Amino acid sequence: MAEIAFLGLGAMGSRMALNLVRAGHHVTVWNRSPEAASALAAAGAKVAQTPREAAAGAAFVVTMLRDDAASRQVWLAPETGALAGMAAGAVAIESSTLSPDWVKALGAAAMDKGVKLLEAPVAGSLPQAEAAQLIYLVGGEPATAELAEPVLKAMGAAVHRVGPLGAGALVKLSTNALLGAQLAVLAELIGMLKRCGADAAQALQAVAATPVWSPVATRLTDFMLAGNFAPQFPVSLIEKDFGYAVDAAGSAEAAPVLAAARGVFREAMSRGLGEANMTSVVRLFTA
Ligand code: NAP
Repeated sequence: MAEIAFLGLGAMGSRMALNLVRAGHHVTVWNRSPEAASALAAAGAKVAQTPREAAAGAAFVVTMLRDDAASRQVWLAPETGALAGMAAGAVAIESSTLSPDWVKALGAAAMDKGVKLLEAPVAGSLPQAEAAQLIYLVGGEPATAELAEPVLKAMGAAVHRVGPLGAGALVKLSTNALLGAQLAVLAELIGMLKRCGADAAQALQAVAATPVWSPVATRLTDFMLAGNFAPQFPVSLIEKDFGYAVDAAGSAEAAPVLAAARGVFREAMSRGLGEANMTSVVRLFTA
């Protein structure tokens, strides 16, 4: 069993770290807001005061943080950053959804320290994190992916190697762009159907019987029609991902549909829905 540091105990990270503990690994955790570590400590994890302290002596350091800024802070802060605490030859596993440019910059900083970086963003939300059923979209050296695979398998069901550093972020952003664009269109269609006096559930069931329907659309429409907005993947996180996707495309002009979908999520944030589930965007079109 490996010595593993886990940094970032938010909605996803707390569940992922618990699965590492349950798998029998020796886990040290850290979170910016310390209270999030109590449940992990009760389950048997050690708690560190800084990322650097958590990373000292770890063979693997896993992060699950909000965005590029959080990742930069946690890995690179001069006094407290995780990279400063890691031994040469240890493996850094970055699982947050980030921009490809930042992932590549982090890879270079890790290499300077003799640390191998693997990016391992995930498809799946809280239920999949809880059940260790995440799907990993891994970018980096094949040898590093090989080393990390047993650690990832304790938290996930599948590990897909998609290319060099940055490729994982691109695949993850592509996945979320497809998810969010469908969600925004389905939300607008529910608004349109209701405005025209149609039975939206019945109408969409008929659409679902045609080849244009996608596997995720059923769950998204069920949640929106039922008014289920309990946070799983909040509006503010998918808006962040659309921002990275538009940047990766080069400009809003180069990706007008992505930019428009981002606009829908930004509008939801301005109406106080930032921390509600992404499905709450339907309220923009049905209120
Ligand atoms: P979350 O619940 O908001 O947790 C975010 C984590 O980042 C918390 O531990 C938070 O610490 C930490 N953090 C934020 N800013 C920080 C900073 N400046 N310095 C240090 N720590 C900071 O988010 P989540 O749902 O777990 O998502 C984590 C990542 O996974 C995101 O990149 C997200 O896009 C991605 N993701 C999410 C889902 C999902 O369904 N939720 C699915 C797949 C991927 P505090 O507790 O102190 O705030």
